[in-house]
Amino acid sequence: MRWSWKIGEIAGIGIYIHATFWLLIAFILFEDWSQHHSVSAAVYGAVFVMVIFGCIVLHELGHALTALHYGVKTRAITLLPIGGLASLERMPDQPLEELWVALAGPAVNVVIAIALYGVLLATGGRANLAEFRWQGGNFLNKLMVVNVWLVLFNMIPAFPMDGGRVLRALLATKMEFTQATHVAARIGQGIAYLFALVGLFTDPFLLFIALFVWMGAEQEAAMAHMHTWVGSVPVSQVMVTNFHALQPDEPLSEAVQQTLSGWQYDFPVVFGHHVLGVLTRDDMMKALAQGGAGGLVRDAMRRDVPIADSYDMLAKTLSMFHEHHCRSLPVEHDGRLVGMLTMDNVGEYLAIQSALGRAKGKGKKDGLQPPAARGETML
Ligand SMILES: [Zn+2]
Repeated sequence: MRWSWKIGEIAGIGIYIHATFWLLIAFILFEDWSQHHSVSAAVYGAVFVMVIFGCIVLHELGHALTALHYGVKTRAITLLPIGGLASLERMPDQPLEELWVALAGPAVNVVIAIALYGVLLATGGRANLAEFRWQGGNFLNKLMVVNVWLVLFNMIPAFPMDGGRVLRALLATKMEFTQATHVAARIGQGIAYLFALVGLFTDPFLLFIALFVWMGAEQEAAMAHMHTWVGSVPVSQVMVTNFHALQPDEPLSEAVQQTLSGWQYDFPVVFGHHVLGVLTRDDMMKALAQGGAGGLVRDAMRRDVPIADSYDMLAKTLSMFHEHHCRSLPVEHDGRLVGMLTMDNVGEYLAIQSALGRAKGKGKKDGLQPPAARGETML
């Protein structure tokens, strides 16, 4: 995420703080200062918030490490003023695996709350769930209360909360994934209505949560729809078949010529019909800047490129784009290069399908998010 600073790394997962998070800290410092006119009160408030966000990082690690157990990597954990965001590369495909990944986050807060309860009892303190003041009061008791809140809030059975994923995973053991998502999204929107209604008469903050829940449900439903949609389309139907390939011994000037005369950014480098690598536009530019147009394609090309099979389903290859940070993939079949799959082309394909679907009157909305965002778990 842009405007994020890395503050550390745990189990290979980068922990980032978003710039707006510092605004939150600054806001709390300012609020406490203007109310109490004491530096210690302001610092106390800021430290309390940072400890809460420490608990949220542990919550995210609960999701991330459970996902890792099922072979799913987490790209980053980012702290935002509204909570944490673990960017999982994808959600595990099995409903029960999604269930455990979703439950692992809140479970961490349950453990923290119980541990704090234990410490409070052992140190002669009094655990009181009803007691919460921003300033003053027992620090550990307050932290326990916050962790209980985090569990309750996250277990609301609506996207984008963990409870929404738990609900969907439970439904998905009984029905097909898209249908489960649909039912879960509907339930989530029902809850959003309820929040909005109660919020109108009580706390306006509930209106804000209602909006958040409503949008989460919409987005999840659209993504699930798209996921099954692209899931049943073979790569061969979407790939570019009209493209140029380069030979490893050709000079870069040939690549320059091809780039200027055509539409292509990335070129497969082939020996016979076999793919040796890909010369990307960025790599070409770097090589040109370093050694001019006389350098050879083989020295500038990227060799560790993933290769798709034309019989693969599109959903499978889309995650390859993100895992390998590339914009195009060579497509082979039986060891022969048969096409190129580019992000642009996939986007075009989806736009066309969406238009055709609307024409049939059963199409879905515009603005579908790329499936890479699927699986991002908040809080
Ligand atoms: Zn969570």
